[in-house]
Amino acid sequence: MRISGMWRLGFVALLAAGTAVRAQDGGAHRGPTAQAQSGTTTAQRGVAQLAKGALQIYFVDVEGGQSTLFVAPSGESLLVDTGSPDPRNPNAPRDASRIAAVCKLAGVTRIDNLLVTHYHSDHVGGLPQLVTMVPVGRFIDHGVNREGADVQGGASTVAGYDAYQKVLADGHAEHLTVKPGDVLPVKAFHVEVVSADGEVIAKPLAAGGQPNPACVTSPLKDPEGDENERSVGVVITYGKTRIMDLGDLTWAKEPGLVCPINKLGRMDVYIASHHGLDRSGSPALVDAIAPRIAIIDNSGRKGAAATTIDTIRGSSRLQDLWQLHTAEGNDTAHNAAESHIANLPATVSGADAGNYLKLTVRMDGALAVTNGRTGETVDYPAK
Ligand SMILES: [Zn+2]
Repeated sequence: MRISGMWRLGFVALLAAGTAVRAQDGGAHRGPTAQAQSGTTTAQRGVAQLAKGALQIYFVDVEGGQSTLFVAPSGESLLVDTGSPDPRNPNAPRDASRIAAVCKLAGVTRIDNLLVTHYHSDHVGGLPQLVTMVPVGRFIDHGVNREGADVQGGASTVAGYDAYQKVLADGHAEHLTVKPGDVLPVKAFHVEVVSADGEVIAKPLAAGGQPNPACVTSPLKDPEGDENERSVGVVITYGKTRIMDLGDLTWAKEPGLVCPINKLGRMDVYIASHHGLDRSGSPALVDAIAPRIAIIDNSGRKGAAATTIDTIRGSSRLQDLWQLHTAEGNDTAHNAAESHIANLPATVSGADAGNYLKLTVRMDGALAVTNGRTGETVDYPAK
């Protein structure tokens, strides 16, 4: 979906009037936080109907790290990553508190599965503080850390890994190490591992196997040789919907998944790799998966590179782009529409509220995204 300036003006005007509106590809309506607006009741009924039997996915704002919570209708949960540590606020750590608050909102009192994609501190760092707030049933990772303290940023990686090992040693939870081709022991939705510890799947997934013409023109980049490349990447299937999250898997690893044969197949939702930095998310990858919706877990100053946004918008089936933050170094043309951004620059919004995005996935393939800042939901009917 392209939202023109005219559309944005119209959108604001219609919302001001409290009127339910339809977008070009998706319908926008007021969410539960919008009070006392005419049409809200109907919209809220719509949200409730959509949520029934739906997989709910919360994108927690951990300021340029990752933390994504999947909650099935049965209540079974999977958390992917835990944001960063907050040693300055041991009693109210920023990221762990935000994740715990979203768990509460989602009715999750125990995280059944916690997948650590890799050991960089913006992914594993919040884990020791989080487990004091919400119990975890099973930890899942790619195995030992092999990034030393001698590389740039390596000291915090070693510290994050060591702190995680202490939590594992407590022995209260199961621990599972995965490799490409594994299926996670999650009952309510299907989670296939496509990358782990620097390796990728050897054979295409059931939905993959097509030639990928974008490989010919997609630029190549050098390997980075660090933990990002060892990210556990997963493809999640719920009903007709396929969602991909490769953690921070790097550009250099992507051809192994999609060139010359697209082993992944098409996705409905792309959780943009590596916060949308230009070190991941090659045209070869994004064109191969041709997502309907892309969601970027960037911060104001990290990720959502202009080139990444161009690549996503240039893919063949894209309906909409969402971001956790305005990318403050980009112009307006290289940001999602303001209505599709959970956190605006502090100069606009005042304090950093840590607003989330929520994706709702119905069995029939209908999707909806709710902006935690505005309470507004955009619907994407099943195709
Ligand atoms: Zn990261």
